[in-house]
Amino acid sequence: MPTPHTISPSPAEKPLRHILSLSGGKDSTALAIYMKDRVAEMEYMFCDTGEELKETYAYLDKLEAFLGKKILRLNPDRPFTHYLKLYRQVLPDPQTRWCTRMLKIKPFEREVGDDKVFMYVGIRADEPHRKGYIVTSKSNITPQYPFIDGNIRLADVNRILKESGIGLPDYYSWRSRSGCYFCFFQQRIEWVGLLENHAELFWKAAAFEKIDPTTGEHFTWVEGESLKELARPERVQEIKDQHKNKSSDAGRRIKDALLKDVLAKDELDGDGCTICHL
Ligand code: SF4
Repeated sequence: MPTPHTISPSPAEKPLRHILSLSGGKDSTALAIYMKDRVAEMEYMFCDTGEELKETYAYLDKLEAFLGKKILRLNPDRPFTHYLKLYRQVLPDPQTRWCTRMLKIKPFEREVGDDKVFMYVGIRADEPHRKGYIVTSKSNITPQYPFIDGNIRLADVNRILKESGIGLPDYYSWRSRSGCYFCFFQQRIEWVGLLENHAELFWKAAAFEKIDPTTGEHFTWVEGESLKELARPERVQEIKDQHKNKSSDAGRRIKDALLKDVLAKDELDGDGCTICHL
C-alpha cells in the first residue's frame, strides 16, 4: 500500500491509436483500401448491430482477405429487441436514432475508452457537408478525412473498389446503403428490394411495427404506411413505377446539367449509418 506521501509513477502514455471504422458500405471500404499502405498500425473495426444483411458480412470478409488484417467486430451489450423493449416498443427514427446510440456508438466508445484516437472517416471530397454529422462527443476521438484531404471523389471511390477487385457490395443491386435490414433511412423502393431479396427479414421488420392500444398511435418504419400495406402487390408496383419515373427524371436532369457524379447522389448512393460514421 502506498503511504500518503508516495508519488506513484505516472503510467506510460498510451500511443495514439489509428482506427478506421467500417460500415460495410462502399465509401468506408474504399477508404480502407486507400489507407492500407499509408498507416501501418491501422485498426479496422465494424460495429455489428446484429441486424445486418448477410451481404454485408460477405463484403467485410472479402475486405478482410484483401487487407490481410483482422476486422474487429464490436457488438452491443444487448440485442436490438432488448432496447426496443426499453424504449417501450417505439421504433427508432431519424430524430431519436436510439439504435445508433445503443448499437453502434456505445460499443465503439467502450472499445476506445480514453485512448487518444485518430478515427478515419470515408467522407469524400464531393460531400464535405457530411463532416458535421459525427455524433460521438468524446474529445479523445479526432476525426480524419483522408478522402477530403486527397480530393477523392465518387468516381475515384468506384475506381479504387474496381481496381482492388472488391467491387461493390452485392446489396447495391437493390439497396443504396449499408446498415440494419430495417433501417428507417431506406426509401420505399429499398423496402420493396428487401421484400424481394430477403422476404423473411422484411416480415421480421414488419413484426416490430405496432399500434399503441391506448393512444392508437402507429409505430411504423415508413411514415404513414405499415410494411404490410407496402407489401400489397398493387402498392409494390406503384412504388416501382414511381421510382422508375423518378430515376428517369433524375437522369434527364443529370444529362441536362452535365453533373453526372453529383446529382441524385444522395438518393442513389451512400453508406448506412453515415451520420455517425460507425
Ligand atoms: S443502420 Fe439505421 S437502423 Fe441500424 S443503427 Fe444505423 S440508423 Fe439505426
